[in-house]
Amino acid sequence: MTGIGDWDDFDVRSALLALLEPVCIGDALGDGVTLRDASTETGLKLVVEVDGVVVEVDVAPKEAGRRSAAASARWTFGYRTGDKNAPLDATVGLRVTSLVAQHVARNEERVATRFVRPVSTGTSTRVRHVKVERLLERQTNLGVHSWALSPYVGCLVGCRFCYAQSRLAVTRTLLGLPEVPWGSWVDARINAAEVLRRELREREALPIKFSPIVSDPYHALETKLRLTRQCVEVLVEAKYPQPVLMLTREARVLEDAELLARLPRGFGGVSLPTIDEDVLKHFEPRASTAAERLRALEVLRDAGLETFALVQPFLPGNLVALADALAARVKSVRLDVLRGVEGAADQFADPRFAHATDAKWQDEKRAELAALLDARGIKVWSGELPP
Ligand code: SF4
Repeated sequence: MTGIGDWDDFDVRSALLALLEPVCIGDALGDGVTLRDASTETGLKLVVEVDGVVVEVDVAPKEAGRRSAAASARWTFGYRTGDKNAPLDATVGLRVTSLVAQHVARNEERVATRFVRPVSTGTSTRVRHVKVERLLERQTNLGVHSWALSPYVGCLVGCRFCYAQSRLAVTRTLLGLPEVPWGSWVDARINAAEVLRRELREREALPIKFSPIVSDPYHALETKLRLTRQCVEVLVEAKYPQPVLMLTREARVLEDAELLARLPRGFGGVSLPTIDEDVLKHFEPRASTAAERLRALEVLRDAGLETFALVQPFLPGNLVALADALAARVKSVRLDVLRGVEGAADQFADPRFAHATDAKWQDEKRAELAALLDARGIKVWSGELPP
């Protein structure tokens, strides 16, 4: 990693919206289909509403072999439900993606140059200071809406199984940035606090989750830039009335324990997929140890935050010891399974861990830990927010 890179003023989001012109956000794309939003946070995404149902359309440059629901000359389109756990009728998804493809087909040649940037070289692209126009990303899960807040995109912790890496690859390629290993690059949103202050005035008050979807809020660069801290300060100053969740793999969160405790409804959580330190070192070599994360929970709890943990994916280790350790420190635990090995194929190829990629094994471990936690009076949850 190197020094700080340049400001980035290239706006992929506006280029994405230009693909649909003259349709703008709030306009109809077709009969009963309205364009609601566009996002580049985790790849290119359009959000549309069809008869009250929210559908997310993934947009990606056309590549040989990539499967899709619809395609134009240059782009492919896939769909998923806007509510992570709600089923979506395939006919609705196909209708929406083919409608988007028709609009894009009319504009893609004209707009093509806005997506082309020469590939940068040099190490300064590893850490870039970028300015954003938007920070809060709406999430809907089990019918509950919340904002995801990420002061950084890209993460220096660099867990190999991290889902963010493939989702972010498309936007990074469109920005003309060179391919570098996951865990070695970060976009620091240096105006995050300023944008958040404005968005708190303009947007609906929903629970906010400092989200490790695209980065960990306390990876190493936070020590230098304090962007996460600045955002928490804004929320404290605003006396933000909704729950604010901080979730991390890093004990560095403790530097902000007192500040977080000043949030009217603050929650502090750690991700801990196993209590076995050797296994953690194998899969998350740069993250805090299990002991450090458990200690962080104690300090956050004693500071007055409601504490929680996330166990995902399941990795080999002593589940009884994990349940005991969590039960002593948190009020609730979210459990979720492995959803693809991402860049961790080598780590899982190790004969000690190969069985952990089996979906049945993941489900069994989830059920076992859920029962152990339940027996200890700890609430188990899914979705984005604790009960
Ligand atoms: S800490 Fe979270 S965001 Fe960072 S690499 Fe690991 S899983 Fe991904």
